[in-house]
Amino acid sequence: MSASPIITLDKNGQEILTVGFNRFGFDSEVGLEALRSLYLRPHYVVSADEIPATASDLDEESQEKQHAKFNQGHIYLSKSIFHPNTHSISYTTLSRFPPVKLLPPSTRKRILVTGGAGFVGSHLVDRLMLLGHEVTVIDNFFTGSKTTVSHWVGHPNFELVRHDVVEPFMIECDQIYHLACPASPPHYQFNAVKTIKTSFLGTLNMLGLAKRTKARFLISSTSEVYGDPEVHPQSEDYWGNVNPIGPRACYDEGKRVAETLTYGFHRQDGVDVRVARIFNTYGPRMNPYDGRVVSNFIVQALRGEDLTVYGDGKQTRSFQYIHDLVDGLICLMNSDETRPVNIGNGDEFTIGEFAELVREIVEQVQERDGEKPAKRVGVVYKPIPQDDPQRRRPDTTRAKETLGWQPRWTVRMGLEEMVRYYKAKMAEGSI
Ligand code: NAD
Ligand code: UDP
Repeated sequence: MSASPIITLDKNGQEILTVGFNRFGFDSEVGLEALRSLYLRPHYVVSADEIPATASDLDEESQEKQHAKFNQGHIYLSKSIFHPNTHSISYTTLSRFPPVKLLPPSTRKRILVTGGAGFVGSHLVDRLMLLGHEVTVIDNFFTGSKTTVSHWVGHPNFELVRHDVVEPFMIECDQIYHLACPASPPHYQFNAVKTIKTSFLGTLNMLGLAKRTKARFLISSTSEVYGDPEVHPQSEDYWGNVNPIGPRACYDEGKRVAETLTYGFHRQDGVDVRVARIFNTYGPRMNPYDGRVVSNFIVQALRGEDLTVYGDGKQTRSFQYIHDLVDGLICLMNSDETRPVNIGNGDEFTIGEFAELVREIVEQVQERDGEKPAKRVGVVYKPIPQDDPQRRRPDTTRAKETLGWQPRWTVRMGLEEMVRYYKAKMAEGSI
């Protein structure tokens, strides 16, 4: 990881130092550095020069010194030492955690996050934990990983449960963020029937839980409910254009029926519901092999491989950075808006343009870090997958008007941070 500080500017050129906001009667702001300390770092020390072959060769004082240097002052981070000679890693139990807000019981919520070990879920968990809530994650680890939330395991406010949402789950809680579902096309198409079961039975079970506990229920729906849209940009009133029998149907129709169920419980049983229609989101902790375009392009560019554009690259997507999404989800959960709300960034790119942008940003970061790749990566064209939507951009008027939410991160700033994350992971050899 580069030692130079990262300066992140928002869409208005103002430096971003915190994320969140002070609204709805509670303060949900957290420092960006605190969040970065949880994801923007390699997991372990790798310097072969400084680290002896075995852990026992390191006395406690030099271990502390190594980690203080490595963790840049964040003393609560776990201790893990890589031994290059034996290619092994020793972990020390995490005993100190990042400081979390101390909330009175009246504002401290018991929050269940399904799919909390996934990409979006883990960032939401970081935020809810830092804000001082009690968080329970349930996840079957199909696409998520324990490592995304391992820095909270053992914290008195945190619980991690291996559980599949297609089975009922009993817990007492005040809010449910129901995120459990694979999200990348290769992952959700890997077992289409399971994806539908997760969408339908999983949502049924979580809505049943919300009904029993009177918890507020938020579902992470998707722009895929609009299918290959005939209306552009897509507002929440558009009913969509989905092929019900195509390869994407298990996900698209799964989410559509999950929304139908959600409003069924709302109308029949008075369950307090929120529906977030999330547009393409990217950021650190995205599985580098999940096949989505942002992770594919960055990893390819960093490896010096050609970027794979599917089709002619004229199809469009609009890309949102993870912190904006988490702001939007927390905002929606704590608002009175029960209608579906689009959460996305309106900055639309053709996939061809996006490949150019990723290549340029990777080159810039490499140059700043004093690296000179052997050759410039190119772009190769591959067949376009069936039913790939041609255009996608959110109309976020509703989110702006009813939540006062708007994305702050430029795509460039988000990409830069994500490039740094993957670079750090590659340097440590974990991807
Ligand atoms: P992800 O694959 O990283 O995370 C999904 C998590 O759900 C994983 O931890 C996975 O192990 C877990 N999971 C899957 N099936 C489960 C089951 N049956 N029981 C318990 N856990 C299960 O994906 P993500 O990008 O973090 O997406 C999270 C949610 O947001 C999903 O509901 C997805 O549909 C929605 N969404 C994401 C995007 C995006 O661009 N990332 C866009 C639209 C919607
Ligand atoms: N895509 C691409 N190259 C890749 C991966 C994806 O050109 O290596 C394209 C894909 O065909 C789609 C767009 O990028 O048009 C976004 O794909 P992704 O899987 O990220 O999300 P989704 O299609 O679900 O929006």
